Amino acid sequence: MIYLDNGATTRMAPEVLEAMLPYLGGEFGNPSAVYSLGARAKKAVNEARRSIAGLVGARQEEIFFTSGGTEADNWALKAAAEGFKARGRHIVTTKVEHHAVLRACGYLEQRGFEVTYVDVDGEGLVRLEALEAALRPDTILVSVMTANNETGVIQPIREIGALTRERGICFHTDGVQAFGHIPVNVDHLGVDMLSASAHKCGGPKGVGMLYVRRGVGLPSFLQGGGQEDHRRAGTENVPGIVGFGAAARRAADRMEEQAGKERQLRDYLIRRIQEEIPHCRLNGHRERRLPGNVNFTFQGLQGEPLLLALDMKDICVSAGAACHAGSLEPSHVLTAMGLSPQEASGALRFTLSGENTREELDQVVECLKESAARLRSMSPEYEAFCTVQSEK
Ligand SMILES: *Cc1c(COP(=O)(O)O)cnc(C)c1O
Repeated sequence: MIYLDNGATTRMAPEVLEAMLPYLGGEFGNPSAVYSLGARAKKAVNEARRSIAGLVGARQEEIFFTSGGTEADNWALKAAAEGFKARGRHIVTTKVEHHAVLRACGYLEQRGFEVTYVDVDGEGLVRLEALEAALRPDTILVSVMTANNETGVIQPIREIGALTRERGICFHTDGVQAFGHIPVNVDHLGVDMLSASAHKCGGPKGVGMLYVRRGVGLPSFLQGGGQEDHRRAGTENVPGIVGFGAAARRAADRMEEQAGKERQLRDYLIRRIQEEIPHCRLNGHRERRLPGNVNFTFQGLQGEPLLLALDMKDICVSAGAACHAGSLEPSHVLTAMGLSPQEASGALRFTLSGENTREELDQVVECLKESAARLRSMSPEYEAFCTVQSEK
């Protein structure tokens, strides 16, 4: 199998599984229990918290574990809205956010909040002037993702942090795709809240975290026991959290090396596709993107049949985001960048890891060339595309 869908989820690293195993077995204590079995579980949870805090430059007590990135995003958006509504009911976000943010915003719009969705440019970067112009005296929250899950485009978070800081507006970033892959420091970026998820960086599924800067009066999301400093009730997912901590330590140790490998593989794949497959378009900024992200539109094709052709050769890629799979809706991220619905649905995303090899990418390119040519020979859309091109 050739796995090029690390943006959807990652293989758990062996040392992560190793770290988790005791907590799926004999070390089953409840971290809230006072006897040693419980105390050991609590210690393990806090050790993970320390590792994760260290990776983003936060204090340990600013990290709150959740069931994943989706919960962290929903918590940040909905609780900020609820907690700060006395100061205003206006939220600013972008058109290219993950659905966990966009649909939480939709939910809030139905409950009397007003949301401004800022545009991005043709390369997927948030227009800073548009974002600044959207800020109002009654704006209570800005949420802009650190890196996009479809195109890997890295947003100017530090610049946005300066704008929000100046105005005293709370700033949340969905850091799920960036965390563990590129340096993310909450003070350097000037963010007040940051979401992350373990399974996007070599950890297990079903666990994530929300960083909340000290002093931000974010209401709790789940009511119940006093876990997570009374902010997120529910018995902790101890094995998951321990795995998340191990993944964070592993990422911290190897980030530069991994990113370097990914960048080389990424640039190799981009170059080969551009040189060997006619009429394709790289989606997203060429440089300001995650080291492992490659996203191409193949003109006159649908992403889905191409994806299935690759799957026949045991190559895993995705058409748009994983959450879109099976839906025929063109990607909201690519259409926001100005692609036509036709171009957006002809996109494939390859998300690499440092463990991939050039030989694997060679096989992928061969399969792509063959499949794209075969599918295009039967595609009236491609014929129409070529006619338009030749008339230009
Ligand atoms: C995967 C992802 C999420 C959701 O995280 P889960 O842990 O799968 O719930 C949120 N935002 C972004 C940008 C993602 O890539």
